[in-house]
Amino acid sequence: MIAPTVPVTVAYNKDPSPIKLNLGVGAYRTEEGKPLVLNVVRRAEQMLVNDQSRVKEYLPIIGLAEFNKLSAKLIFGADSPAIQENRVTTVQCLSGTGSLRVGSEFLARHYHERTIYIPLPTWGNHPKIFSIAGLSVKTYRYYDPASRGLDFRGLLEDLGAAPSGAIVLLHACAHNPTGVDPTLEQWEQIRQLMRSKGLLPFFDSAYQGFASGSLDVDAQAVRIFVADGGECLAAQSYAKNMGLYGERVGALSVVCKTADVASRVESQLKLVIRPMYSNPPIHGASIVATILKDRDLYNEWTVELKAMADRIKNMRQQLFDALQARGTPGDWSHIIKQIGMFTFTGLNTEHVAFMTKEYHIYMTSDGRISMAGLSSQTVPHLAGAIHAAVT
Ligand code: PLP
Repeated sequence: MIAPTVPVTVAYNKDPSPIKLNLGVGAYRTEEGKPLVLNVVRRAEQMLVNDQSRVKEYLPIIGLAEFNKLSAKLIFGADSPAIQENRVTTVQCLSGTGSLRVGSEFLARHYHERTIYIPLPTWGNHPKIFSIAGLSVKTYRYYDPASRGLDFRGLLEDLGAAPSGAIVLLHACAHNPTGVDPTLEQWEQIRQLMRSKGLLPFFDSAYQGFASGSLDVDAQAVRIFVADGGECLAAQSYAKNMGLYGERVGALSVVCKTADVASRVESQLKLVIRPMYSNPPIHGASIVATILKDRDLYNEWTVELKAMADRIKNMRQQLFDALQARGTPGDWSHIIKQIGMFTFTGLNTEHVAFMTKEYHIYMTSDGRISMAGLSSQTVPHLAGAIHAAVT
């Protein structure tokens, strides 16, 4: 039996109610509830179409070289010593998911420790990706339901008890589904602990720039790990921050101790990719490379990216204010404290079922809502539903 991949959306689509609201999808929507193609993406596509010299030949196994270089710079920083010392190997993959899959299959084949620790909870696809790739999946404590914040002590205890050399999946920013990130000081402590135990960081960066509105701020956690000269992996996605969801464009970088290791890692990555899909698609990577290499387009992108992040923050504030105004019982400050596309509301399965049945509001049963699916018009409907569910 194949389980439906997006049951929330399937149920939403079947509901004939005119007031129905889908807060289950992890994709940005405008204030009008519509998908958004960034203007800068339209411009880059136009430039690509106008360039008659462009052909549709196969890319190399590791993808578009220019895209790979620019992607590494974007996440590690333009002045990253790891890049300057040629210690980074980057391969274009099929968005974030494909990057995680290629990275974990590479580790399962060549790395000495085949256990990966993932946060509890995490994005639902993580355990499936890693176990199918051949890794054994364990969890570390991450979220504390009581404070609706980080279970920092639990996290340190669990990573401290992990076998040395184990792989640790870290969300680079805007943890999905909780919206709870460690502070920079906490990241520094995590780094120290992981390095002292020889744990290998594998960053999942699906929201760079989308969380805070700044590409550099959202890459800080990754950069403090790279700055210490140690190894790490990073899976990047351009789905959210460039709105290139269906183009499937992303990159996997492996930061190595030496340039020689980096070049051997690249050969092995080719052996993983070749029998999997031969080589990646050209269009999305060309759009990204066009934007990243042109100062004007890059600047326009940062403005549009910030506008998306700001709209989401604004929805957080509006929802919080609406609950305050209703006097809804409980502390809802986590709505404005959490970061990124999702709010982990703290609503339980019964609350969610009630809101779907009575208010036609759809979300995952763990109470996670996509703030990007809200608008000023729909906030009162959601606040009313939450209020009714908890009183
Ligand atoms: N990682 C996390 C935490 C995500 O939330 C997502 C998408 O929702 C992804 C990775 C990968 O998305 P994609 O494969 O569309 O880039």
